[in-house]
Amino acid sequence: MHTFLGKVGELILKGSNIHDFEKLLVSNTRTYLKGSKAQIKLFGGRLYIDCEDEEAERVQFALDHLLGITGWAEARVCEKNIEAIKDAVMEEAKLCVANGATSFKIEAKRGDKSFPLDSYGICREAAAPVFDSNMMKVDVHNPDCVITVEVRERVFVYGLSKKGRRGLPVGCSGKGLLLLSGGLDSPVAGYRMMRRGMKVECAYFHSYPYTSEQAQQKVEKLAEILAGYGLVTHLNIIPFTDVQMRIKERAPQAFTTLMLRVCMMKCANMISERIGADCLITGESLGQVASQTIQNLTVTESFAEKPLLRPLIGVDKEEIIATAVEIGTYETSILPYEDCCVLFSPRHPILHAEVESASEIYNSLEVDELIKEAFEKREIKKFEA
Ligand code: ATP
Ligand code: MG
Repeated sequence: MHTFLGKVGELILKGSNIHDFEKLLVSNTRTYLKGSKAQIKLFGGRLYIDCEDEEAERVQFALDHLLGITGWAEARVCEKNIEAIKDAVMEEAKLCVANGATSFKIEAKRGDKSFPLDSYGICREAAAPVFDSNMMKVDVHNPDCVITVEVRERVFVYGLSKKGRRGLPVGCSGKGLLLLSGGLDSPVAGYRMMRRGMKVECAYFHSYPYTSEQAQQKVEKLAEILAGYGLVTHLNIIPFTDVQMRIKERAPQAFTTLMLRVCMMKCANMISERIGADCLITGESLGQVASQTIQNLTVTESFAEKPLLRPLIGVDKEEIIATAVEIGTYETSILPYEDCCVLFSPRHPILHAEVESASEIYNSLEVDELIKEAFEKREIKKFEA
């Protein structure tokens, strides 16, 4: 039998809505553990999961991906007396030392007010054997490890805790359509919105045979990784070769990339309408490439019929890469298969386009019908955590 404990994060701040947020957090946890016998409960700002040995790995995956907790740990459950607590603390201390800790502190929470010792008394008694055995020194300000003792209807003792994924539980902030390319940025953008509680659906535009099947598989893999956090996502795969060829034939060379972005927006409008998305999401970051100057971003945005969210707009590449590594999309994103934009990119792209001239160029493409066909021919794949 294993007991895991997650610390509930930001939703504590949500006042009277807190019960809805808590319910969502529990139901999201259930989704990860669908079909398992794990027991899930939430009270006192803690998520408790009891499970059998064979399900422990699944629970760990869930807690490692669940959005809305600040940390989690496997806890020891011991009898409700100070001797049992001391033994459990000692076992946790050994684990901390094995992980390189040289200093510790104990935090006690006495939810059960009938317990004879108060929090201070629990800390003092439980720390003594660790301290006396010279395993670690006490450091209340900056300890290497914190061992927590929670006395509730059961007693939980835990030391090494893992970082949780702060934010809001997915499902409390509407739905967005993420334009997901195979690059580094857009998966991180999607993850950021999920962390604010948004359900994220995905759209990928491909230009087979100019883009390879591997490029598409890469995007599918990214959607699968994102579903690990968002619980479920549908990837809309849109054949954009005809649209792209039309742009190449008719648009001034300097405008081809920008026109491609505009056409993607047009098609994304249709998908978002169909799926009931509240907004569009891209991985754009100010100044990162030629199509992302403020003027060009303004042009792209002027074609969006829903709010266009760009969670990475002020984030630099290094930070984006750090997040990509942390969420596990980095290795996939850096695979070399090119997405459609690279093959058709002009040598000297326009840097400061204007909405008016861009609209004229767009109209001269007479591409609406082709975009609609692409929309209708889209394929949808479902990914689940
Ligand atoms: P990324 O790393 O996300 O590919 P990028 O820095 O390469 O971004 P661009 O290629 O200019 O930037 O793309 C800007 C944004 O447009 C992307 O973040 C993504 O949201 C969207 N986008 C680009 N290409 C595609 C595509 N083939 N399918 C879907 N969305 C795309
Ligand atoms: Mg890209």
